[in-house]
Amino acid sequence: MDGLMMDRPLLISSLIEFGARYHSKSEIVSRSVEGPIHRYSMAEANYRSKQLAQALTRLGVGKGERIATIAWNGYRHFELYFGVSGMGAVCHTINPRLFHEQIVYVINHAKDKYVFIDLTFVPLLEALAAHLPNVAGYVIMTEKEHMPETKLDNALCYEELLASENGDYTWPEFAEHTASSLCYTSGTTGNPKGVLYSHRSTVLHTFAVCAAGGAGPNTRSRYLSLVPMFHVNAWGLPYGCAMTGAKLVLPGPSYQGDAIFDLMDAEKVDKAAGVPTLWMLLLSEMQKRGRKPEGFETLVVGGSAFPASMIEAYEDKFGVNVHHAWGMTELSPIGTIGTLLPSMDVLSKEERRAIKTTQGRAVFGVEKKIVDQENNRLPEDGNAFGELLVRGLWTASSYYNDPEATAKSFTEDGWFRTGDVVTLDENGIMNVVDRSKDVIKSAGEWISSIDLENAAMGHPAIREAAVIGMPHPKWDERPLLVAVPAQGESAPTLDEVKEFLADKVAKWWLPDDLIILNELPYTATGKVSKLNLREQLKGYSFPGV
Ligand code: ADP
Repeated sequence: MDGLMMDRPLLISSLIEFGARYHSKSEIVSRSVEGPIHRYSMAEANYRSKQLAQALTRLGVGKGERIATIAWNGYRHFELYFGVSGMGAVCHTINPRLFHEQIVYVINHAKDKYVFIDLTFVPLLEALAAHLPNVAGYVIMTEKEHMPETKLDNALCYEELLASENGDYTWPEFAEHTASSLCYTSGTTGNPKGVLYSHRSTVLHTFAVCAAGGAGPNTRSRYLSLVPMFHVNAWGLPYGCAMTGAKLVLPGPSYQGDAIFDLMDAEKVDKAAGVPTLWMLLLSEMQKRGRKPEGFETLVVGGSAFPASMIEAYEDKFGVNVHHAWGMTELSPIGTIGTLLPSMDVLSKEERRAIKTTQGRAVFGVEKKIVDQENNRLPEDGNAFGELLVRGLWTASSYYNDPEATAKSFTEDGWFRTGDVVTLDENGIMNVVDRSKDVIKSAGEWISSIDLENAAMGHPAIREAAVIGMPHPKWDERPLLVAVPAQGESAPTLDEVKEFLADKVAKWWLPDDLIILNELPYTATGKVSKLNLREQLKGYSFPGV
């Protein structure tokens, strides 16, 4: 027997429509590419998103067509999120830090019809345009007076497009399974893979973002998204702010520690989300100024592991509560969020800190299991580790037009292989041991590069650390520690680091060698690129081996 409830579609436009109606004065504050701070209300954002939908219609964009963005976090990008998806087209956000060949690949693979770009990226597109035969035009996201001289054919001005429309537009209604946005994973090997989100998956994910035990936006939050809007929809925060009416603060192109600090201070940001490297930058700035930005209470971190030493600095020295989250492009991205259960209140500070360094707890909507190499399910006892498989309400079911990559990562019985090796426990707490390709295989046993890195980063003279497995004739692989010294500190020796690590990791985990670098290579999504590091260290062999 079916229930007798209405079957209303879950649509992204309903988020901004609701926001504009019931949180009409909620602010969206952006540092603009042109320089000044821009602020306006949710009602104005909805109005302009509708003008954008009208302009796209006038340009001949139809349902299901792909519209690309190459843009920083700003209000016009926010309008694209709602205007493009809201009219039934697909908003394809592109990471400008991808290699040029990858940008060409994703635009051609997605068959993007128009590409919307911030002023910063005009030279980039001028260089690539000859390789983009399907693009009908480039929309430069600025006013008429800032329009640059450009070699781009068919360059249009964003503000001029909007100015020709009256905003008198009703968001269309369509099936909730309709595609809404597209994001390619950077992919360390091979071509990027497209994840095609739907309206349904996005709205359900938005509920999860807002229900995330203190970490998500709520009506009273002033939320800074350092997470780029060109990567996994900024972890869903723009949608969450429309749903809840939280003030949304967007950093534009300015990601330096002092710029982040000043923006947070001025806007009294209480919650902020970003990747670990940005929190390192902000922490140095806070240490320099001897205080945190006024009102800063909650930090959400994900994308790569966050060492205990960083959590300690934020929580103990500055009173900022840390939520460690884990996710993936294929999961929209949320898979776990760190929150402490009431039963954990009785634990010692060290025990609670240890829980906080894990990647957090299960969220409703994402099912998980861990399996060994023969695909046998492993116990969820906090000890057994294996590859994590997931399925859920906002998990991809395949890659966009990529049967080969799909066959590798999606099982026939409906699970997605994450490539992460993890432990799970009875409370749903997940600890990422490693990416399966980074785990170090020493004499048949596994060493977690992440655990070693986290422990090494606790050393006062080490700012950043990466551990990679290097070939060893006797043990198969052994850990090599690559470290960047902390500012003003001289580089530690291998023996000093080993002594520091002695009571933190098993003896056979201790690194066999230490290499000091001035900086580590990063991927397009701000993670240490072990691929590049391996490339850089090609030909290396352990001393005396
Ligand atoms: P994102 O860059 O948003 O994290 P990607 O899809 O590019 O999304 O990368 C996902 C991968 O990043 C995961 O499979 C995992 O290996 C790693 N990752 C994400 N969050 C964490 C975390 N909190 N700790 C450790 N690794 C993480």
